[in-house]
Amino acid sequence: MISLNELTKTYGRGADSVTVLDRLNFEVGAGEIFAVTGPSGAGKSTLAQCINLLERPTSGSVVVNGEDLSSLPEKRLRAARRRIGTVFQSASLLSRRTASENIALPLEYLGVTPGEIRARVGELIDRVGLGPKAHSYPFQLSGGQAQRVGIARALALRPAILLADEATSGLDPDTTSSVVELLKQLRTDLDLTVVFITHEMDTVRQIADSVARLERGRIVETGALVDLLTDH
Ligand code: ADP
Ligand code: ADP
Repeated sequence: MISLNELTKTYGRGADSVTVLDRLNFEVGAGEIFAVTGPSGAGKSTLAQCINLLERPTSGSVVVNGEDLSSLPEKRLRAARRRIGTVFQSASLLSRRTASENIALPLEYLGVTPGEIRARVGELIDRVGLGPKAHSYPFQLSGGQAQRVGIARALALRPAILLADEATSGLDPDTTSSVVELLKQLRTDLDLTVVFITHEMDTVRQIADSVARLERGRIVETGALVDLLTDH
């Protein structure tokens, strides 16, 4: 489904250059929940931006369903981005818009008709269990509820891949568990492939099928979660 091939990201040039991601290789199978973990500064956010095409790799590639997204011309990037929904750490909702209106944003940008938007937003808000909060503003939502809105918005364009960048960081353990359960349910119901980036090892244990551990821009360990857990 997703494969990284010698993915490298270097900022700057010559003597001042910093290699933030150093020849990363891994494969994420369709329907898998794949966690990327590692300490602060390891390169996780940079990797997230290379996967959701906000950053271009310096070399190497990100291949999704056999198509090399990292070398797509600019005008085809926008369509490719729709296949990947992203959830950020702070749900980053617009404060003057209700939960429903936030979920509708990507559909409005795409020019989907109002009737279709209403239907899709209604379905999404139910899927994330927020029906009663549909007309609440972000300040009226708990952290977990805001994150559910962020997840629904990431799914609005029916992506095949959901990328969660520290999506549960900052939530308390019970709320984290409920978001984890939601993501597992969505993975099954919508045939999603999930890339879950987090520095929290406890969350990795709850959610992941497979894991890659990054340190200073390199993968130091990768494999099925059970194998990593039994090795230590
Ligand atoms: P993580 O998400 O694991 O904390 P990041 O991807 O944010 O790691 O950062 C990895 C390293 O890359 C850090 O040392 C950071 O300072 C560096 N870095 C990130 N973005 C840039 C940039 N635009 N220019 C230079 N260095 C950067
Ligand atoms: P089926 O194959 O059983 O018809 P689908 O996978 O087509 O099921 O989708 C069932 C419902 O879920 C549809 O309403 C569809 O719009 C919605 N859906 C499917 N994939 C996604 C996705 N990635 N994100 C959000 N909604 C989705």
